[in-house]
Amino acid sequence: MNEIVLAGIVLALLVVLLIARTSTKTRPTDRDFEDLGDGAVDEIAEEDLEAELAELEAELELEEAVEEALEEVELEEPPAPVAPPPSRWARGLAKTRGALGSTLKALGLRDKLDGDAWEEIEEALIRADVGMDATDRVLEALRKENPSPDELHDALQKELVEILDAGDTTLHTRPGEVAVWLVTGVNGVGKTTSIAKLGRRLKDDGHSVVLAAGDTFRAAAIEQLGTWAGRLDVHMVKHAPGADPGAVVFDAIEHAKAKKIDVVIVDTAGRLQTKTNLMEELKKVRRIADREAGGVTEVLLVLDATVGQNGLAQAKAFQEAVGATGVILTKLDGTAKGGIVVAIQEKLGIPVKAVGVGEGIEDMETFDPDAFVEAMLS
Ligand code: GDP
Repeated sequence: MNEIVLAGIVLALLVVLLIARTSTKTRPTDRDFEDLGDGAVDEIAEEDLEAELAELEAELELEEAVEEALEEVELEEPPAPVAPPPSRWARGLAKTRGALGSTLKALGLRDKLDGDAWEEIEEALIRADVGMDATDRVLEALRKENPSPDELHDALQKELVEILDAGDTTLHTRPGEVAVWLVTGVNGVGKTTSIAKLGRRLKDDGHSVVLAAGDTFRAAAIEQLGTWAGRLDVHMVKHAPGADPGAVVFDAIEHAKAKKIDVVIVDTAGRLQTKTNLMEELKKVRRIADREAGGVTEVLLVLDATVGQNGLAQAKAFQEAVGATGVILTKLDGTAKGGIVVAIQEKLGIPVKAVGVGEGIEDMETFDPDAFVEAMLS
């Protein structure tokens, strides 16, 4: 106990001594100065002055920095409003925009639209994949109208919208009854993906859906559709590879009737259209679907927008075999030049009912002629 008290006293003494030493060091007394020579006093005074000067300089620098920052805040422009991200439409049409938009802007600055100007418009339309027939039609109408350079943009917009606005873009179901949607197109155009997108859209709209694996020619096609059916959480009717696609469609319609399902989406084979037996097969599938369900409400032809004008020959063959109520134009987000939509409408007279703008199940847009042409000409 005594030892602890003793240790405490020693410790307290040490602390007092330490404090006394520190205070005498930081604040020199007169006695200290007397003890020192003149040179040492000068040195200490100089050191103190330097320290004070450094302190003042630091303060000044800080003040200046604060003032500068304040000035910058006052001078800075108010932040520009953030532009909304370009729509999927606009992004999908990036290539076309380059071809038509820049030509139109340049021509808009001319004094008048002469022969050269018309040639430039023609070239730009063809470059944008509008195709010869539609280009001729548009040019003829424009020449008749004879717009001034600054009226050209609106005049062209009007003509293109007129061509594109011609058809019914609704995807029809049959309230209270089974509707069948046949989906056709050559392999690789995006048919299976489009079926999944359509299924998703129908489900979002509150409809029930069943998928029919009608491309029995390729085992991989059945598998791929099955994967989408799983993701969509819808039933898929399938038979073994090589089976009669008509039988698959028949079963799918029976299933839909029994379960009161609104829409049967049928995948079909897509071997090249030059093979007559494919077209015969499709005709048979359509006949069965019509007979069993009492009416196919949609025959959708899937076309790959990046294929351009070549796709039109395919489209004609499918249209002749099974008829087509509408086109689904895929891959518009790729290197596609949007003008192909105008060419399709002009040549086939089938409305483009939906466009694919990506690989995801959500990446399908309803075709909107006004928004489309606006993006094309921007
Ligand atoms: P199918 O053979 O006609 O059934 O074609 P698939 O549905 O298997 O599609 C072929 C390829 O095209 C796949 O890699 C798809 O992801 C892709 N694809 C389909 N639609 C689109 C689209 O709108 N945009 C893009 N970028 N790719 C697509």
